[in-house]
Amino acid sequence: MNFIPSRASAIENLDKFVENNLYEYSKLRNFDFGVNNRSNISCLSPYITHGIISELELIKKSLNKFSFVKNEKFIQEILWRTYWKGWLELRPNVWTDYLSELKKIRNEYTDNAEYKNAIEGNTNIECFNEWVNELKEKNYLHNHARMWFASIWIFTLELPWQLGAEFFMKHLFDGDAAANTLGWRWVAGIQTPGKNYLASEWNIQKFTNNRFKNIKLKENALPKISNKNYFASKLEFNNPQNLEEKNLLIFENNLSFEVNDFNKQKFKKIILISNKSENRVIVLSENVMKFKSQLIEDQKKRLEEKSISCEIIDLTEIQNINEDTYGLYPTVGENLDYVNLNKLKIEFLYRKLDQFSWQYCNKGFFNFKNYIPKIITTFN
Ligand SMILES: Cc1cc2nc3c(=O)[nH]c(=O)nc-3n(C[C@H](O)[C@H](O)[C@H](O)COP(=O)(O)OP(=O)(O)OC[C@H]3O[C@@H](n4cnc5c(N)ncnc54)[C@H](O)[C@@H]3O)c2cc1C
Repeated sequence: MNFIPSRASAIENLDKFVENNLYEYSKLRNFDFGVNNRSNISCLSPYITHGIISELELIKKSLNKFSFVKNEKFIQEILWRTYWKGWLELRPNVWTDYLSELKKIRNEYTDNAEYKNAIEGNTNIECFNEWVNELKEKNYLHNHARMWFASIWIFTLELPWQLGAEFFMKHLFDGDAAANTLGWRWVAGIQTPGKNYLASEWNIQKFTNNRFKNIKLKENALPKISNKNYFASKLEFNNPQNLEEKNLLIFENNLSFEVNDFNKQKFKKIILISNKSENRVIVLSENVMKFKSQLIEDQKKRLEEKSISCEIIDLTEIQNINEDTYGLYPTVGENLDYVNLNKLKIEFLYRKLDQFSWQYCNKGFFNFKNYIPKIITTFN
């Protein structure tokens, strides 16, 4: 699977998937058939993470093809992302605490041989080594492989989950503060306290279609324990009543002005923000940085084709931005951290899907699931 960094490719992949593979998604989605056979899943996350295509576009296209009942699993997965993002928005300290723990642990592990072997794909677990190489070369892993990987990292190799989450963020094209941090916390057993995800030999063997055998894992390890409790804050994601004609800042999570809720509004100029690795706690790999900058260029090109005035600036330059500017909300993560750290006064605009759905993210996903039909009818 090659991820071509353009909206045109994202749409083409989406259409192909809906047309040819969606009907078998719920039956086959858990199988990781290997890098050359990814048609059982959509592989759209690198695009959705950057807002190249929106969750609602996916849901609408899938519902044009099949009924809600037939599509339920796919729609649930798409909205997992929305749920994780909302959950973290309500508890942003989970992210900031993660980053400060990471900084501390990093120092402790700089010369740790097990850690070095793990990130070099040099362990005695063949499947794990293969996923390390796949992650570095293809910048993507199947969902089940991410679960096995994280579980082996935490419970068999006994490495801190924070370092594993950093390794994923560094190399994944779809690296996302919410899905990644909460995914790792969930495997470790601290997201749902007391319930960890344990990878097992039979499960890996079955769902990799017997590509791997004789996998020696610690299959009975206990969940990790966290002494921190996080409580959901009150929602405060309000859009201004009447939008004025100002500039609009777009961060790397909303790179399709065409599909955002404000595309009918007139803005003076669209300013696309590029965030280099120097501004990030987690330094991203060259592949990931290149992918992001190509997606930004692609958005610029599409805006110019429509004669919409736009420019690309470095994140550090937003210090010079005056009050004549709105910003599409970047969500909890490194871009928002920069804005907060520098006390920048940006009036944020929130996506309607997020505003509506995040109110249901204060409890677990099983509670959130009950609201999915309501979310669908509100937006479809
Ligand atoms: C430890 C761990 C780390 C993860 N890190 C990330 C990350 O950094 N970024 C990221 O986007 N996803 C992450 N995920 C979630 C999931 O693995 C990917 O979204 C999925 O594998 C993307 O592949 P796909 O597009 O083919 O998914 P499909 O199966 O085709 O699903 C369609 C869409 O639904 C959403 N989705 C599916 N599963 C999940 C899930 N478990 N959580 C949230 N959204 C989901 C994605 O937007 C995906 O594109 C992580 C999962 C784990 C267990």
